[in-house]
Amino acid sequence: MSGDVEILLRGPSAFSVARKAMDEMEEHKVWPTALNFELWTYFVGAPDSPLGREIARIMGEGEAFTDSVAEELSSAFLPKSRLGDQIRNAGDALSKELASVSEAIKKAQISSDRYGDTLADAAGKLGDDASPAALRATVQSLSAATRKISEENRALERRLMESTDEVNKLREHLEQVRRDATTDGLTNLSNRKAFDEELTRVCAQAEARGEALTLAVLDIDHFKNFNDTWGHQTGDQVLRFVASVIGRKGAPPRFTARYGGEEFAMIFPGEEAAKAFRALEEIRAEISSRTLKRRSTNDDLGIVTVSAGLAQHKAGETPSSLLERADSALYASKRNGRNRTTDAAQAAAAA
Ligand code: GH3
Ligand code: MG
Ligand code: MG
Repeated sequence: MSGDVEILLRGPSAFSVARKAMDEMEEHKVWPTALNFELWTYFVGAPDSPLGREIARIMGEGEAFTDSVAEELSSAFLPKSRLGDQIRNAGDALSKELASVSEAIKKAQISSDRYGDTLADAAGKLGDDASPAALRATVQSLSAATRKISEENRALERRLMESTDEVNKLREHLEQVRRDATTDGLTNLSNRKAFDEELTRVCAQAEARGEALTLAVLDIDHFKNFNDTWGHQTGDQVLRFVASVIGRKGAPPRFTARYGGEEFAMIFPGEEAAKAFRALEEIRAEISSRTLKRRSTNDDLGIVTVSAGLAQHKAGETPSSLLERADSALYASKRNGRNRTTDAAQAAAAA
């Protein structure tokens, strides 16, 4: 898919595609940022691609194309190839570094073999009845060879030190790339991709160890109204606030993610539903106890509330079934008036 747009932007129709993307952006009041432009070339150049269709859907529903929407689209549809490139580049740099170090080590090996030969040769000469002149010559050649090898060793040491630095830099870079790929740009919580992987991992772990595991999903109440009243920018501010409360309560070994637009997920490894329930109630209370103010104008925004649903993992249960039960519990919270927490087991018993 990305290949098609790349070709389009380097082919005969490149400028007309680019111009059309700009026109469409202007018409839909989308800022011409580099990322927006990249996204809109898909909309214009590959309208049938998943990304093209998603943008059409967003426009069709009249949603605002904010920076956070752009970021979500980018992380859902764009970064994989870019990420792949970054990893490939780091891998290339690493193998070049290793090749050059192994070359240096090979050279050092040859020098040290040669030094060994010099020593053996000298030992042979010393063993004979050596004249004082021959003795002096042997000692001189030995000390020259020793000086040479110790210089070479120092050079190798320097080379290895440089290489360690280089490899450490590469490792940090890769670590950063990995973090970016698993973090939600708006809230700094883990993103959905990271959450999916973590849920699979902890389910298997709970299964293997026979430990408790609870999953919760949280969703901001009436957030559409909030956005419609105060605008998306302020909505984003609220998302960050809610994320910070959830993130604080969800510190490791718990795991917290932004699951989607205004939905969050929390994993409680080793914790039963009752304990997770208390944590969720604390989150809910803290969020609803704050009167929010808009930073730019100091307008009083009132309060926001969240609804939550949780489910404790059952032996043999798949991650998707666990998620489904937590989701149903969340919807029970919504149905029963919002700003509340529902345990899937209780919801099932009541039904
Ligand atoms: P409910 O109580 O049933 O959850 O109602 P709701 O309005 O919160 O739910 P709905 O799913 O209808 O709307 C979710 C809204 O969340 C739609 C969109 O305006 C808003 N939203 C989703 N993602 C973002 C985002 O990244 N930034 C902002 N500002 N708003 C977002
Ligand atoms: Mg929602
Ligand atoms: Mg909502």
